[in-house]
Amino acid sequence: MTRIIHTGGCLCGGIRFEATGPADNPHNCSCKFCQRHTGAVTATWVEFPSNNVRWVGPDGAPITYRSSEISRRAFCPKCGSSLGAIDDAPTIALLVGTFDELDSPELIPDFHSFEDGKPNWA
Ligand SMILES: [Zn+2]
Ligand SMILES: [Zn+2]
Repeated sequence: MTRIIHTGGCLCGGIRFEATGPADNPHNCSCKFCQRHTGAVTATWVEFPSNNVRWVGPDGAPITYRSSEISRRAFCPKCGSSLGAIDDAPTIALLVGTFDELDSPELIPDFHSFEDGKPNWA
């Protein structure tokens, strides 16, 4: 099995990650939590086991906001970029827009959650 190492980070570069594949569960989501968290009408997500994600930038790990019983949303304290969601389960979901390279087949969404939350024009 190919183990692609995905890299990415926030707008200011303070938070950087290395996420080792295989990536899991790539999908789009248009729920209200994702819309408010990202400012975008649709967020694209991909998941990794927590142990496969390393925070390698100068500012270490992102800060978090508990958004539900099961998860915390992660963002950069300096530039405010949304980076993903750190679940209580050993899973980290990363926002695909933060990745350096977007063309990996591992990142192609398999499905669209809360598609009815997407406006008609998007
Ligand atoms: Zn930043
Ligand atoms: Zn969502």
